Amino acid sequence: MTPRDDIGRDELQAMQLARLGDLLRDVVPANRFYAAKFTAAGVNPAALDPVRDWHRVPFTSKADLLADQQHHPPHGTFHTYSADRYCRLHQTSGTTTGRPLRWLDTAESWQAMLDNWRALLRIGGIRSEDRLFFAFSFGPFLGFWTAFDAAAQLGCLCLSGGGMSSTARLRFLIDNAATVVLCTPTYALRLAEVARQEGIDLPASSVRALIVAGEPGGSVPGTRARIEAGWGARVLDHNGMTECGPIGIECHEQPGGLHLLETECLAEVVDPGGQVFPDGSEGELVLTTFRRSGSPLIRYRTGDLVCVDPRPCRCGRALRRLDGGIRGRVDDMVIVRGNNFHPSVLQAFLQRFPEVAEYRIEIDATVALTTLRIDVEPTADAPADLARRLDQAIRDTLLFRAEVRLVPTGALPRFEMKAHRIVHKKPNHD
Ligand SMILES: [Zn+2]
Repeated sequence: MTPRDDIGRDELQAMQLARLGDLLRDVVPANRFYAAKFTAAGVNPAALDPVRDWHRVPFTSKADLLADQQHHPPHGTFHTYSADRYCRLHQTSGTTTGRPLRWLDTAESWQAMLDNWRALLRIGGIRSEDRLFFAFSFGPFLGFWTAFDAAAQLGCLCLSGGGMSSTARLRFLIDNAATVVLCTPTYALRLAEVARQEGIDLPASSVRALIVAGEPGGSVPGTRARIEAGWGARVLDHNGMTECGPIGIECHEQPGGLHLLETECLAEVVDPGGQVFPDGSEGELVLTTFRRSGSPLIRYRTGDLVCVDPRPCRCGRALRRLDGGIRGRVDDMVIVRGNNFHPSVLQAFLQRFPEVAEYRIEIDATVALTTLRIDVEPTADAPADLARRLDQAIRDTLLFRAEVRLVPTGALPRFEMKAHRIVHKKPNHD
């Protein structure tokens, strides 16, 4: 059943309460991880009123799930059913924690994620006659696996781009007249760069939209503008993660934000202490999933920095919208010269300069005053004084100093999945 995106607030809230009730009654007692968590917090799920007492439900973090999996290898105890019910295994990339988090799904949980994708594709204006190209490796990372299955169910022609070079992918998507491309924002830019080098005219291709996910960027104006110019196509931002599956997409009518599929999840935005913010405040996204009951999330701190737009969306949908999409990661926040600073602000700023082909931001907190250094790889036609101009523009616009250094063409890595352009050098407290 495809989730509804035309639901009103009152009906939505009634549905959310019913689904939270189901979760507390049917799933929590059967799930060893959550049952133990509730017991440790002194909360009896059977006696909990989801309206009045939801704030008493303990938070879960990725560190909790990783620790559980380490103590109970190989899959942990956060699964609701016996092992024979599960038919899919995926895992996170493990780049931020050093260890991948393994994730199992039942056939029902998998289908629930496909249902979500079908609703998201509809909100994004994708039709059965579209041809979707997935510039994705189809390895153990969950990524676009569910999007591929869901689009095929919708009747779209689905083209896998696994195991190909960037040039081969470009030729393949053009030869097969793809109309929609799915990839990370970083890789969308990389493909556009390769196309220019190969003399391929992407704006003349049949691609009309790109669905981008996996990192901030799809809702950042400078990044969007570069992708849209390189492809001659519309960007649609999307968010999902291995732990929650697909949950958000940009609507056709209002760019630069993500509607959350709230029939399928409860979304809260909290401050670092866990207090829930009203809409309009920037904080960490906390998610509870309703129908992925084989491996549910209950008050999961995603680490994603978001802000719910309190204004109604132009499209008329009542589903809440994250203005600016995923704005960054909560744990990337640093203090530079006494000011709270999020590197995503600097990333968004750098993306506005077409002369910047690639960059890397190094935040060095090992010295008395935290310093910022930016390595910039200029495009072939960039002016010789680019470093000085960037330095001046950063001071004028962002009001702090960063050391800007130009590096030779090709010196910085290119990324196929999530980019790692921010290097944190942290003090050693041992
Ligand atoms: Zn909208």
